Amino acid sequence: MSLARSASDLATLDARISVCRACPRLVQWREQVAGDKRAAFADQPYWGRPAPGFGDEAAQVLVVGLAPAAHGANRTGRVFTGDRSGDWLFAALHRAGYASQPTSVHAGDGLTLRGLRIIAAVRCAPPGNQPTVSERATCAPWLDRDLALAAPTVRSILALGGLAWDASLGAARRLGWQVPTPKPTFGHGAMAQLREPGGRVVRLVGSYHVSQQNTFTGRLTESMLGLGAGAARVARYRSRVSTTPTPVLAVTVLGDDRPGIVADVTAAVAGLGGNLEDSTMTLLRGHFAMVVLVRTPASVAAVEAALAGIAAGGSLTVDVRELRESGMPPAPGRAWTLRVHGADRPGIVASITEVLAAHGGNIVDLGTRLGSDLYVLIAEVELPEAASGEAVAADLRAAAAAVGVTVAFEPVDDEVL
Ligand code: SF4
Repeated sequence: MSLARSASDLATLDARISVCRACPRLVQWREQVAGDKRAAFADQPYWGRPAPGFGDEAAQVLVVGLAPAAHGANRTGRVFTGDRSGDWLFAALHRAGYASQPTSVHAGDGLTLRGLRIIAAVRCAPPGNQPTVSERATCAPWLDRDLALAAPTVRSILALGGLAWDASLGAARRLGWQVPTPKPTFGHGAMAQLREPGGRVVRLVGSYHVSQQNTFTGRLTESMLGLGAGAARVARYRSRVSTTPTPVLAVTVLGDDRPGIVADVTAAVAGLGGNLEDSTMTLLRGHFAMVVLVRTPASVAAVEAALAGIAAGGSLTVDVRELRESGMPPAPGRAWTLRVHGADRPGIVASITEVLAAHGGNIVDLGTRLGSDLYVLIAEVELPEAASGEAVAADLRAAAAAVGVTVAFEPVDDEVL
């Protein structure tokens, strides 16, 4: 279907999907349902057309469902909206931090998703919720294009049910992604590692469908859906590039070690209503050092006052300052893990960072440890899509060898979701 393949962005793709009439049986059914209506919705206009995808255009998580419900998305025009499955799903997405509100009632209700996009394997409501094999095949190009356009950012695909699992594997295979053989079997909690042509791993996760018979009976619970860890990861990533006006403060605590420092600092931060974004701490030759990043509407002076008791007595110093947003673009590059091991010597960091900079790499997280003369560095690096991970790894190995350390550079193996 050339209309799908030539869609240059998600807006174009969604617009083209919404006018598709390629499956005569489904077109007839969706329009018949829209005309007959259910009595409870008799006063409402029905969409009566295919349901395009909905959500973040730079999603890290792609949720793939089966097909619209006759009186759900076929009525409202938004996937999973207007039926019990959707009520449960969007409430769970809201609690996990992906959805701006707990309900999805109609296409104009203001709901937004962050870090996640929802699509369906088949875009038109089928009689009995059962699309035929040929209808699934006819609709597949829309799914293929959705996945292709999501590829630059997507880290995980959550397939709701066996049909969505098979459809996702098929789409990945048709796009030239590496898919395990034999074909991974669907099951709740099943996982398969897909590798997109750039080398990045995208994890396919299977889940029972969010149908009422699964959620109502407890066969599927929110924790089983596994959205929590993914939301935390998305939030962590987004926090680095967030454009929200709430400032991030860096709190640095230095001085003599004593029991309870971490508990005192985190309790003071929590007391200000702050959201702990990141933290690191270490002992440097017996001295305690800790840096906490906290997103809070409280002023620098208020945070200093809250932490004043910790500094009292003179054995610890507390420094609070506001961090400015970096202005980095929100689209993530590919994430890689860098590990350096060896004997400590001058120039290790300079050698490594010069190589990364030459390839356009950006260090987004970094930690080092120094024990007697041993040196360990672990960093998370984002590479531009155009950069070759293999070429960067080769240059890193050469630079490391020149200063007598070893280096490992690998794509990040993401969390489940
Ligand atoms: S199921 Fe897919 S291919 Fe068939 S008419 Fe609907 S949108 Fe088009």
